[in-house]
Amino acid sequence: MIPLAIPNLGGNERAYLNQCIDEGFVSSVGEFVNRFERDVAALAGAQYGVATSSGTTALHLALVGVGVGRDDLVVLPTYTFIASANAISHCGATPWLFDVARDTLTLDIELLARTLERETEKRDGAVFHRGSGRRVAAIMPVFTMGLPPDMDRLVPLADHYGLPIVGDGAAALGALHRGRKIGACGARAVGISFNGNKTFTTGSGGAIVTGDAELAAKLKHLCETARQGDRYRHDVVGFNYRMSNVEAALGCAQLERANEFLAVKRKVAARYNAFAAADRRVEAFPEPDYAQHCWWFSGVILRPGVDPAVVLRTLRENGVGARPFWEPMHDQPPYVAAPRTPAPVADDIAPRVVILPSSTHITDAELDRVETALAAALDAAQPGGR
Ligand SMILES: *Cc1c(COP(=O)(O)O)cnc(C)c1O
Repeated sequence: MIPLAIPNLGGNERAYLNQCIDEGFVSSVGEFVNRFERDVAALAGAQYGVATSSGTTALHLALVGVGVGRDDLVVLPTYTFIASANAISHCGATPWLFDVARDTLTLDIELLARTLERETEKRDGAVFHRGSGRRVAAIMPVFTMGLPPDMDRLVPLADHYGLPIVGDGAAALGALHRGRKIGACGARAVGISFNGNKTFTTGSGGAIVTGDAELAAKLKHLCETARQGDRYRHDVVGFNYRMSNVEAALGCAQLERANEFLAVKRKVAARYNAFAAADRRVEAFPEPDYAQHCWWFSGVILRPGVDPAVVLRTLRENGVGARPFWEPMHDQPPYVAAPRTPAPVADDIAPRVVILPSSTHITDAELDRVETALAAALDAAQPGGR
């Protein structure tokens, strides 16, 4: 089976892990955490990085850091991984779910502008949702598969309402927005994941990047039980969301190969996009002009009428680890009652997305096999051909 996306651990990972063991630094103390925070920040084009135990804890901590609290609403696209919505729930807040735009599959900014105009009011320097009376506390755009939304439109809108942007850039390290890295395109903070299927992994881990020194210091403090100095004094209810030195050691080795990994992801996407351009039964994932996608995942969108179940089954029978992708949040049991806009785009697209193998050590021969299997799977799903 050609796997969907597995870790590529062929660099300094083993040497750095041995170093952790030899030196006895496997937990919260050690040089790798500091180095990893600097390396992540640099790759994200941000001044500060705070390493965390996962992407989910990074997002939760970032939301707490910008002031999201109990009973607040946080704007979120419905087409995302459930961790984004859960991070909001962990604050005691509720996601306010929006559809995505057809040409980006990220937050529909026009829809957001119209809806904020119609359904909110400003009071005492804050924004309130008229229907529920709840405060709107932040906007969390999701960088879908590694594609940022158009921040040149989102940032002025957020500024107009005084809402901080916390980006879910979980899989977006390496993406560019009009030439700027994800930590430098207008979000107050961006959460990143280093889970095993991401382009770069620490096993499990995450990071928050920000250009705001005060926020970075606050997040670091909250992340480490809000301890003051070396006594057991803690000024607020903090979190144990630290990354360990072992995880950071893996991460340092991974980020050393960032250019190589990102180039392979782009190459793989170019193959699948070229396939999609030549076969009318599928279309490519969007890559709008304003951004350079980092292609965490790539694959194809099946045209209406091409049965996803048949395509996925045939691909797997032919040894290709293909998968369906996200199911919208408004269909998930914990979020069916969340306030939301209609979501015709997410509803239409989600069942038709097929992600295809894209490990960073995939070979050209494996890519050839994926394409052959994809053609066979499409023939099985829609006899009559290209
Ligand atoms: C992977 C991912 C997360 C969660 O990261 P974990 O490290 O698994 O907690 C959140 N949001 C998105 C968009 C992701 O892809």
